[in-house]
Amino acid sequence: MTNILILGGTTEASALAGVLADRRARATLSYAGRVANPRVQPLPTRVGGFGGVAGLARYLREQEVTHLVDATHPFAATMSAHAVAAAREQGIAHIALTRPAWEPAAGDRWQSVASVEAAVAALVGPRRRVMLALGRMHVSAFAAQPQHRYLLRFVDAPQEPPALPDHALVIDRGPFSVDGDVDLMQSHAIDLVVCKNAGGSGAEAKLIAARRLGLPVLMIDRPALPERRAVHDVEAVLHWLDHSADRGV
Ligand code: NAP
Repeated sequence: MTNILILGGTTEASALAGVLADRRARATLSYAGRVANPRVQPLPTRVGGFGGVAGLARYLREQEVTHLVDATHPFAATMSAHAVAAAREQGIAHIALTRPAWEPAAGDRWQSVASVEAAVAALVGPRRRVMLALGRMHVSAFAAQPQHRYLLRFVDAPQEPPALPDHALVIDRGPFSVDGDVDLMQSHAIDLVVCKNAGGSGAEAKLIAARRLGLPVLMIDRPALPERRAVHDVEAVLHWLDHSADRGV
């Protein structure tokens, strides 16, 4: 019998969970446990790391998972690499549900960098007012450029104050609107936006707001991932589930 494990932490994973629950599919949603109060889900959930490739492979075996759907964030490169390796090791079906990367449109002033470290290095120079739209995991790296005023937006209030000497912190889990982000950028007199190329519509408001305000964006490119089957929408996952059952592909 088909038994699906969704690696989650994204809106795509939640959307898939809703559809699978409606279908009464046997499925579990896995969270890393980074967010204090994740959305209530219509499927059974589990929380916390598996313990590397070996731990995930063990979980897949013990829970008799037949289909692994990696719906993690495009920057969750470690988890995604583990998923490829563990699914291969267990010989089970594996697919990634991921958002297409954003592409610059007319009016965008993007500078691409390869990594968070490269974004930090690109901020060398005089004081600016920077919206750091990165999530809290990478913020401390920007302490190496302490001359800037940073605007941070987190899902949860952090336990420790961010290690940036001059910052403003907004707690908001979205969804964000273009008008709201224009207001936020204007009220903080932002002159540069730093973000990851997450893709998807939920986080795109800041890019449209930056375009509207003519602001430059320092865009961090996606990390490299191993070769894998990837689709961009829930329907494509359902099609794959319906056509790959019991074939171990
Ligand atoms: P990561 O660096 O690729 O993963 C680090 C470790 O966290 C993994 O090796 C795994 O631990 C554990 N982990 C990650 N995702 C998990 C999941 N869905 N279920 C169980 N364990 C998981 O991942 P990350 O960038 O820290 O992201 C963590 C979570 O936040 C993911 O669920 C991701 O979808 C979500 N998220 C990430 C970003 C981002 O920008 N990176 C943005 C939004 C949401 P073990 O090795 O012990 O199994």
